[in-house]
Amino acid sequence: MPLLEVKNLRKSFRVKDSLGRTTGKLAAVDDISFNLAQGETLGLVGESGCGKSTTGKLIMQLLQADAGQVIFSGTELTKLSAKQMRPYRRQMQMIFQDPFSSLNPRMTISSILAEPLKIHRLVPSNQINDRIIELLEKVGLNADHEQRYPHEFSGGQRQRIGIARALAVEPQLIIADEPVSALDLSVQAQILNLLQSFQQEHNLSYLFIAHDLAVIEHVSDQIAVMYLGKIVELTSAAELYKNPRHPYTEALLNAVPIPDPNQPRPVALSGEIPSPVNPPSGCYFHPRCPYASDMCKQQEPQLQKLGIGDKHLVACHYSEKVGRYLLQR
Ligand code: SF4
Repeated sequence: MPLLEVKNLRKSFRVKDSLGRTTGKLAAVDDISFNLAQGETLGLVGESGCGKSTTGKLIMQLLQADAGQVIFSGTELTKLSAKQMRPYRRQMQMIFQDPFSSLNPRMTISSILAEPLKIHRLVPSNQINDRIIELLEKVGLNADHEQRYPHEFSGGQRQRIGIARALAVEPQLIIADEPVSALDLSVQAQILNLLQSFQQEHNLSYLFIAHDLAVIEHVSDQIAVMYLGKIVELTSAAELYKNPRHPYTEALLNAVPIPDPNQPRPVALSGEIPSPVNPPSGCYFHPRCPYASDMCKQQEPQLQKLGIGDKHLVACHYSEKVGRYLLQR
């Protein structure tokens, strides 16, 4: 049984004008489904506004879904009351892109880490300080940092504090929402290594949200590519990088930096991402797709297996043609 099952999840928001009148509806998450196994990482990738962060919040039950199911460890969460949800909150934690905004600037690091330990009564009060020092050391900080405030740390150190806070409650699932996007490349690598070592140590599952395929290549077991609220490709990470079958995935792969500066770069993606309030007809990707035909403007492709028994799912009428524009890496 997977640790997390997301089934046909949907969430839309009302769009209002300056007078507060509803003028439309924005489908932020549009009928998405995936599974995440214990100890594995699913990378959820797509441009800003494609619904990745909303998906994370729906799983955490920070937003209420319009339809669909979120099954965690065999329990359907969307129908639970706030009280029934409480034990699951501990088992699912989030790490954010900007840990500074999620760390109370008036609290010391010691108080920030003590808070979840006290709320969930995880250690006796006389052992809280030892546990805080243990957590700090685990993430590469030390006891000297305990009485400092968030503004006294660098971005990388703040992310380490965010990770320590998430680990404090011994979760099973961590939703990491762009956790390294704001960091320098060398610090990114350190944080990714740290997350991977905790995964091995605690058999953690990660839903790793990212806006490009560069960051998640080496941390993901599976990858789901999202475009305008829908999953357009879902397969193992190894298969996705070797054999992308959706033109949007191909474009995202072409945008991944390569070490050879002399190699010509194709245009990664033409055109702007369409408004999710008024999405294109047929396949949402057709205005930007180099493979598009008239059929693509009329018929929406469904996410389906490439072949019988295949675990590679794609939503494209011409998936067999994809790869023509793929840059060799
Ligand atoms: Fe491109 Fe058509 Fe495939 Fe959509 S269905 S991604 S427009 S080829």
